[in-house]
Amino acid sequence: MSAVARAEEPADLAPEDVLRWAYETFRRVAIVASFQAESSVLIDMASRIRQEVHVITLDTGRLPQATHDLIDRVRDRYAIEVKVVAPDARDLEQMVGANGVNLFYSSPALRRLCCEVRKSKPLARALDGYDAWVTGVRRQQAATRAKTPVIAADPEHEGLTKIAPLAGWSKDQVWSYIRDNDLPYHSLYDLGYTSIGCEPCTRATAAGEDERAGRWWWEENEVKECGLQWTPDGRPLQVRPRSVPQ
Ligand code: SF4
Repeated sequence: MSAVARAEEPADLAPEDVLRWAYETFRRVAIVASFQAESSVLIDMASRIRQEVHVITLDTGRLPQATHDLIDRVRDRYAIEVKVVAPDARDLEQMVGANGVNLFYSSPALRRLCCEVRKSKPLARALDGYDAWVTGVRRQQAATRAKTPVIAADPEHEGLTKIAPLAGWSKDQVWSYIRDNDLPYHSLYDLGYTSIGCEPCTRATAAGEDERAGRWWWEENEVKECGLQWTPDGRPLQVRPRSVPQ
């Protein structure tokens, strides 16, 4: 079986092996953490492999307090530096000045603009100097993520490789790992949230709802993604799978 073929069916690859390969292959690897459940797992796995783990998180300015609390708990537990990246102040002033602070409720286009200013552009800046970045995206999270490759050239950030070690994992596998290893996790999960982003754009979900149904819940027939996994105008990223470790 070829390496690329394996990339299409990576459920048999342990995420730890993917992470180990990433650290052996690339000089500078960043874990980009949203501090959802998958971030807890990835940071723990990486900390068992490497002493020096680089974690980047995007402080959009609209995060729930519980996210900031979790960042502190993770810092304390692992003694790692978490680089907290903020939006560009001038971009923010222009956007809010022209459209108001709650522009995301006005239209999908303005919501995507907000995600671009508060997330996508800061991420691009933060990744400067890295060779690869690790994301907690899983295929089962949403139809838009069903074809997520474990390792791919990142079309949004030239020259970088994007790695999703948990792509083939289920939600149950994530939570089993968290429970078995007594990891810190986001407290909003205990209040019925199944996906957590910015405070004004996230609500708890009801039984039977899609995992990401609580994100931008007021939008109908729109892609439940920000520009980190999709393009800023809502198109799927055209990712090219790369070889994965054998
Ligand atoms: S999730 Fe909401 S508040 Fe956060 S960046 Fe996107 S639109 Fe803005």
